[in-house]
Formats: sequence, C-alpha cells, structure tokens
Amino acid sequence: MQDRDVIVVGAGFAGMYMLHSLRRLGLATTVIERGSGVGGTWFWNRYPGARCDVESMSYSYSFSEELQQEWVWPHRYATQPEILCYANHVADRFDLRRDIVFDTAVTAAEYDDLEKRWTINTGTGETFRARYLVMATGCLSVPKVPDLPGLGNFRGRVLHTADWPREGYDFTDQTVGIVGTGSSGIQSIPLIARDAKHLTVFQRTANYSIPAWNGPIPQKRESEIKLNYRALRQKSRGSYAGDYADEYYVSILELSPEEREEQFERRWQEGGFNYQYAFADAMVSEQANELAAEFVRNKIRAIVKDPQAAEILCPKDHPFGAKRLCVDTQYYETYNRDNVSLVDIKADPIIEITETGLRTGQAEHHFEVLVLATGFDAMTGALTRIDIRGRHGVLLRERWRDGPQAYLGVAVTEFPNMFVITGPGSPSVLANMILACEQHVEWIAQLIEHAEENALTAVEADPEAQEQWARQVTESAGKTLYVKANSWYLGANVPGKARVFMPYVDGFQVYSQTCDDIAKTGYPGFHLR
Ligand SMILES: Cc1cc2nc3c(=O)[nH]c(=O)nc-3n(C[C@H](O)[C@H](O)[C@H](O)COP(=O)(O)OP(=O)(O)OC[C@H]3O[C@@H](n4cnc5c(N)ncnc54)[C@H](O)[C@@H]3O)c2cc1C
Repeated sequence: MQDRDVIVVGAGFAGMYMLHSLRRLGLATTVIERGSGVGGTWFWNRYPGARCDVESMSYSYSFSEELQQEWVWPHRYATQPEILCYANHVADRFDLRRDIVFDTAVTAAEYDDLEKRWTINTGTGETFRARYLVMATGCLSVPKVPDLPGLGNFRGRVLHTADWPREGYDFTDQTVGIVGTGSSGIQSIPLIARDAKHLTVFQRTANYSIPAWNGPIPQKRESEIKLNYRALRQKSRGSYAGDYADEYYVSILELSPEEREEQFERRWQEGGFNYQYAFADAMVSEQANELAAEFVRNKIRAIVKDPQAAEILCPKDHPFGAKRLCVDTQYYETYNRDNVSLVDIKADPIIEITETGLRTGQAEHHFEVLVLATGFDAMTGALTRIDIRGRHGVLLRERWRDGPQAYLGVAVTEFPNMFVITGPGSPSVLANMILACEQHVEWIAQLIEHAEENALTAVEADPEAQEQWARQVTESAGKTLYVKANSWYLGANVPGKARVFMPYVDGFQVYSQTCDDIAKTGYPGFHLR
C-alpha cells in the first residue's frame, strides 16, 4: 500500500497539469493511468484524420509562457501524432513521468470517514491511500460500442476509432464499412476512402460539419499570436467558449437577408467552430438557427453531386449545433468518389452484423473491415465504471442513476476530498477543453492549498448547493436549443442512461467568474471541516 497526499486518476492534459500544480504545492502526488503513455484522448484516438478542431495555438497549455513561446504548431489544426508529441514533450519538460504509474486502471476508490483517507484499488492489485482524490478521467474516454446484433459473428477486423491500434491500420485495397458519422467518422471517412478499395458509410444521423480549411500556420500569424499570447489567453478566459476567436458578433435575426448570407459565407470561409459561436442567437432562436442550418444544407447540396446522397447528408432532425458541431477536411466531397457509397440506416436500419458484413432491411452489404466511429459514454462513463464509494459506502454510480449532480461540476456531496476535472455541470465539452482543464486544475489546487493551510481534513459539497447548481445547469440548458437533439450531451447515445443535459451552457467566462467568486468568499456551498 502506497501512501500519498493526492492520487490523480488519468494522465491526459488534465492529469498532467494537475500533477505539475500539486507538486508546486509540495504535495506527494501519484497519477494512475490506464494507458501506457500520457496524452489521454490523443493516446487512444489514433484513427486516420484524428486532429483537434479548436485551433492548436489556442488548444494548448497556457500555464507556461516559455512552453507556449517555444512550441511550434505546424498546422492550424494539429494532427493526433502532433498533439501526442506535444503531450510527451510536456511530460518530459516538466519531468512528470516519475510520478505516473502507467498500464494501471483504477477499479475502485473508497473513502474512510474516520481516517479521512481514500483507498484506491487498481487492476494490477496495487493499492494506494491518499487524502485527496482527483478524477482526471476525461469526458470522452470510454468508447461506446453499439449493441449491434451479431457483432461477434463478423469474421473481418473490427476497429473502434477511440481504441485504434498503436501500429495503425493499412486500408489499401480493402473493402470497409463504417458506422457512425459524428466527429470521428467525419474526420476519418475522407482518409479511409482515399486508401480503401471501397468504403460504405452507414449513416444514422446526418451531422452538421463546417470546413476546417486546415493548412500550415503562416509565419506572420504565428508571430502575431506569440507576440500577443498573454492577451489572447486572457481574451480566451473571458470568452464563452474559452477561445480567442471573436464571438458573438451579430444576431442573425437582426441582419437583412443579404447581410446574413454575407456573414454566413464569411464564417464558412473562415471555417471551424466560429460558424456557431459568432452568432448570438444561433443557439436560442429556432428561427435564427434554422437560417444558419439551411445555409449549411445548401453548401452540402452544392458540394455533393448526387442529389439523393446530398439530401441524406443534410441534417434535418435536430437544430444546428445542438449536437457537437463537426469540423472537416473534404468530408462532403468524399461522397463524389466512385469508391464510396452511403447507406441511410435511419430509413433502412441495420438488422444484424453478418460474418461478411451487415444486413439491413433492404440489402446485404459485404466488407472486410468494420470501423466503429460510435463515440463515447460521455462525461460520466469513466467515473461510473469505477466503484467509487463515499461516506457510509454510498456508490457514486447509484447516486447518479437519475443523472449526475456535482457542485460546480467539481465536487460531489458524500464524496469528501474528491474533485472531478471537467465534470458534469461544468462547461467542459462546450469549451476549449485544454483551457477548461487548466481552469479546473488551478481552482482545485487553490482549494487544496486552502485546506492545507487551514488544517482542514475534509472538503465536501453541501447537498443544497449541489442541488441548486444542478437545477441551474438544467434550467439554463432548457432555454437553449441544445436540449432539442438526442445528443451525447444528454446521454441519449447510451441506452438506459439518464437524460440530463450535462455541460454548463452559460459560458466559460461566467462559470470561471463564479468559481473565482466562490474561492474569494471562503467557499460558500462547501463544508470545510
Ligand atoms: C477525437 C477527439 C478530438 C477532440 N478534439 C478536441 C478539440 O479539438 N478541442 C477540444 O477542446 N476538445 C477536443 N476533444 C476533447 C478532449 O477529450 C479534450 O480536449 C482533452 O484532451 C481532455 O483531456 P483530459 O485529460 O480531461 O481527458 P482525457 O484526455 O480523456 O484523459 C483521461 C485519461 O484518464 C484515463 N483513465 C480513465 N479512466 C481511468 C481509470 N479507471 N484508471 C486509470 N486511468 C483512467 C484514460 O486512459 C485517459 O488517458 C476531442 C476528443 C476526441 C475524442
């Protein structure tokens, strides 16, 4: 049994920075990581085309001025290998590895109310004890394998985008089927199509995707950003989405039809997420949203030559942006290739996976490789898979059966001295997540420092404060169009999961300010014992 001050679970961007911050407080900290390397998301998601869709100069750590000045991002949106290389560089630069235990999954954690200690069990049999437990387990770290009848019968190779073989996979001359057209599907489809003999895309839900227009970062732009990095990071911290792009320029409904077209076209040409965040009313007014949506649909109709395929690819069953927006490179263009076919499995559902492919109600499809781009048990999956027991043995999974509740998305009643990074009820997946991780890490480190300085043995969320926070998160989401889609934000992609909108929608800046105010005023909403 190893005794530590703090155990951090997960060595993605959140866990790495948490370790660095706790070391600075002089606390003996160990990070436990299931994978054999650092990087989290970027360690596991090695599918072709995997890359970030927030610009790299923004989607990177801001805590070290030297690091951000020295690091060179070759492309506007870095590839998975580039981001993993960066994560490894950070681990080496700050000498993090000596306190990370790799290839070790945390299976259980139990709080002893008398000792005020957590006992943490792992799959390797090693046990740890710690005064604090920080869950940096990630919002998108548990791959969701769909419940497709007959999946076990398939004789070819099955690959999940979120658990991709480390040695890669060569699709040359292979026939491939892919299920799933969310971000991972949309990123990988053009590259799989480029190599494969034939690719069949099985689409249940058409998603909105905006072009990335990716390419090298012009030297001038890089210099400008680096010259103003501090100010730009400040701007990101004061923004809705934790990014320095200009947002909330205009209200769609206040524009004339000509101005509207011009604005939509400009955002489309700029590419990326700001097509959504540039408009103040895009996520609150159905009318405004529909205008933004129809502009995208018309782009799809203009790109995809087969009108029938174009209509299948046009999202019509949910508001624009209510499911996570995708950012692509040549996604819609891919459907103009001769070696790509599209099957609408909403109209003609999959009956079963066969030995050589799959069968829908109307046809039999054959392929050698099946790619599952079917996403994650998002936001809570990694936490509910661990047997986390708080005071009196209560199980977190049970407490969250009807939906997760966490005060500020960070702390849970009955689970003292446990903190969750980018937990449900925080902006998390609606923000630039590296910045969201940094904000949480810094706030949690400050709270732990406060506890240490004041000889507190237990820090716990007050049940009423937690309840009120959860209510506020739900009410705010209810005023937006986010709740009008069957999205993973709501847990809708996992059968049996409670339907609760999990991210905080009021904006990263409002959220961070609230957290800061709470810290400044002696942590109302927490019991400090
Ligand atoms: C393909 C893809 C692209 C993305 N692109 C963007 C983007 O452009 N911008 C953006 O803001 N966000 C993006 N995200 C979200 C991304 O998850 C975050 O940006 C960020 O990497 C999260 O870091 P993290 O450390 O919180 O979690 P993760 O990176 O998920 O790390 C969590 C770690 O915890 C480990 N872990 C989990 N459970 C256990 C356990 N029981 N025991 C031991 N270890 C455990 C996991 O193995 C993992 O290494 C993307 C996600 C995906 C999947």
